[in-house]
Amino acid sequence: MIITIRSEASSEERAQLMSLLCRITGNQHPIQTTEMDEREVIALDGVCIDTQAQIALSEQSAVEQVQRIKTPYKLVSRAFKAQSSSIVIGAHPGSEQVTIGGAMATPVIMAGPCAVENREQLITTARAVKESGAQVLRGGAFKPRTSPYQFQGLGIEGLHLLDEARQITGLPVITEVMEPDMVETVAQHADVLQIGARSIQNYPLLQAAGRNKKKVPVLLKRGLSSTIDEWLQAAEYIVAAGNPNVILCERGIRSYDPQTRNLLDLSCIPLLHQLTHLPVIVDPSHATGRRELVPIMSRASIAAEAEGLIIEVHPDPNSALCDGKQSITPEQLKKIVHEIHLFADIMRGEARVA
Ligand code: PEP
Ligand code: MN
Repeated sequence: MIITIRSEASSEERAQLMSLLCRITGNQHPIQTTEMDEREVIALDGVCIDTQAQIALSEQSAVEQVQRIKTPYKLVSRAFKAQSSSIVIGAHPGSEQVTIGGAMATPVIMAGPCAVENREQLITTARAVKESGAQVLRGGAFKPRTSPYQFQGLGIEGLHLLDEARQITGLPVITEVMEPDMVETVAQHADVLQIGARSIQNYPLLQAAGRNKKKVPVLLKRGLSSTIDEWLQAAEYIVAAGNPNVILCERGIRSYDPQTRNLLDLSCIPLLHQLTHLPVIVDPSHATGRRELVPIMSRASIAAEAEGLIIEVHPDPNSALCDGKQSITPEQLKKIVHEIHLFADIMRGEARVA
């Protein structure tokens, strides 16, 4: 159930609503107020609210409307909000602003190295990303690696290099956060916080990203074996904790075939568009693990109506400290960005003569 509070409701009216909710739920459920589209809302689940209680709630003077939402995810559901959400990226000074999602939006391409390795590698890549026409720079400073002996990222130094790359190019930056206690620190540098596939079940991290003071947008990657319902409930954690700015990222799921690193689930894109109002992007690099598959899977993702892409690019992919096999060169990125924009125009019925 979702209760939308009237924006003009007085503090007495709100207090009255809260005490009724406490009575109805028997103080057994957390009652969190979240702001969505300039409205305060309260989502409740697992509480048996009968018709009489629902009427009593809707009669409260603080209440604008009460909606019953059947899915376990509420605030992120299309049933709650029919209009696709658009999210503005780039709140840091010196950053260009980029909008992702919403009706007929231009695809947003995020690109950069898997990991920030050193100043020269990052700045060279950042300039190439800018020149390609991609709109957001990616780069991991904290890297979740399968082996403890692999490069773990530059940490805080990597965040400072990302700041410098933004100053030079104007590109907003996305970088991963792995620990709840690091959210505020990473948010001081990042225009988008990435929550990686391995962290989707780290509920304290999801909540901390939801509570981050500036509501920095969060890119939530699908877990290695997350069902769509689990993924949407992870997104719900972030939104319910106070941050409505969530972007979903399909990055492939575990399969049995070692030919590709993961299996790109393209069908999840139109399905997610039915189920949620949040924007959906695709990471063809981690989804395939093979750089030669990245261009065509990028096109396929846009054809399936993804609102964007996140692609790994490296000036010298074969010497990358992380994920070189799936990283493309700056020249290949330029070609992909060009193709994607032509392709998106065709899909919108605005084909240009090249
Ligand atoms: C990454 O983006 O480099 C990364 C580690 O991604 P994922 O969490 O999808 O594996
Ligand atoms: Mn990577």
